[in-house]
Amino acid sequence: MSRSAHPAGPRHADVLPEGHYTAPPADLNALDPRVWSRTVTRDADGVATLGGIPVTRLAEEFGTPAYFLDEDDFRARCRAWHDAFGGEADVFYAGKAFLSRAVVGWLHEEGLNLDVCSAGELTTALAAGMPAERIAMHGNNKTTDEIERAVTAGVGRIVLDSFQEIVRVAHIAERLGRRQRVQIRVTVGVEAHTHEFIATAHEDQKFGIALADGQAAEAVRRVLKLDSLELAGIHSHIGSQIFDMAGFEVSARRVVQLLAEVRDEHGVELPEIDLGGGLGIAYTSEDDPREPHEIAKSLSDIVTRECAAAGLAVPRISVEPGRAIVGPTTFTLYEVGTLKELPGLRTYVSVDGGMSDNIRTALYDAEYSVALASRVSSAGPMLSRVVGKHCESGDIVVKDAFLPADLAPGDLLAVPATGAYCRSMASNYNHALRPPVVAVKDGKARVIMRRETEEDLLRLDVG
Ligand SMILES: *Cc1c(COP(=O)(O)O)cnc(C)c1O
Repeated sequence: MSRSAHPAGPRHADVLPEGHYTAPPADLNALDPRVWSRTVTRDADGVATLGGIPVTRLAEEFGTPAYFLDEDDFRARCRAWHDAFGGEADVFYAGKAFLSRAVVGWLHEEGLNLDVCSAGELTTALAAGMPAERIAMHGNNKTTDEIERAVTAGVGRIVLDSFQEIVRVAHIAERLGRRQRVQIRVTVGVEAHTHEFIATAHEDQKFGIALADGQAAEAVRRVLKLDSLELAGIHSHIGSQIFDMAGFEVSARRVVQLLAEVRDEHGVELPEIDLGGGLGIAYTSEDDPREPHEIAKSLSDIVTRECAAAGLAVPRISVEPGRAIVGPTTFTLYEVGTLKELPGLRTYVSVDGGMSDNIRTALYDAEYSVALASRVSSAGPMLSRVVGKHCESGDIVVKDAFLPADLAPGDLLAVPATGAYCRSMASNYNHALRPPVVAVKDGKARVIMRRETEEDLLRLDVG
């Protein structure tokens, strides 16, 4: 990462390992618009507000911890992605980032399509009225039941992930008297990480069918022989939280090469390519994500160029952003419970949630920002670690943060950019009750996913 070791803050500077923190921000009360959703600001009293509603009121009405989602921001991001390709591409929102019936409704209204990867996600999408032809079904081990339900519903595409699945989907479609549109997911030998990508001959992971050794070409051969499958195109997804377009360019080039091989061997020009999701967002002020229109231009240019070189008509492109749409729309609001100063190290700030509502820090060493939201403070910076209330020392929400030194129990902390992979990965660890998701729009807040109750816990536990 571009993170560099600056001179440390006023406290504890000497014992910190280099590069694990940056200097305290010039203004601890600032809410960097790069990291916060677009209707977040502070009111005249210094209280952070979302859609005009102070977080103190949100906390009173909905409790903490809770996720607060900026609906205008969500819709604006949908539109930006939709418009980025000038209507010349299909945008599939990756439902696994965060899915609820309200979200499906917004996607539908904003003209986006939807990726699902389980029966539960499919059920939610259909229950909320997403037309089946705008749904794509993913997964590296779809069950027979999931395939049957997807085919019966008439999903627009099933993305085939293995040789077994080719046969399985074909058989089910045949039995149901359907011809199912499919794409083949290939692994292009590009592994993308934040700010970099690595080209490898064989990606050592579970998804897709390798381009290497002619495996993907063999998958195409098999699919084309099956009457109950209609091969619409090739799919490639190279990673997550990616900032560097180079990995996408290599991926697009290799997918187009496969299309050319398919044309040469079978005389068929496949009409679609899907370049997946994985576009990065700003979790901290250090991150500098690209705008959808820049990403769209870069992808369209490379596909157009490679197709021209191969003498192919340009296929219809689709992309699958999840994090880049919902991630920045949401913050999690917590109440501070206890503070422990470890002299010479840092202050541990315990909040009323933790790894049950945000597992990403523990799981991926993810970085987050945090701000004192219920007031402003003129106190100096205090090097802090925001931790949860779970029985794990790895229960960390924000590893390194500067918070005002007068932070006290009862203060509200907000952690931005928690819209993706937080509620959707939430757990009941320690019998925690998963927090609600509250959508705010035009000064009105409504619960779109309610808080779990102890009754919910006991209902699952049948004794
Ligand atoms: C996870 C996933 C996505 C979305 O990834 P983001 O990082 O949320 O954009 C898109 N496509 C596929 C196949 C995925 O598995």
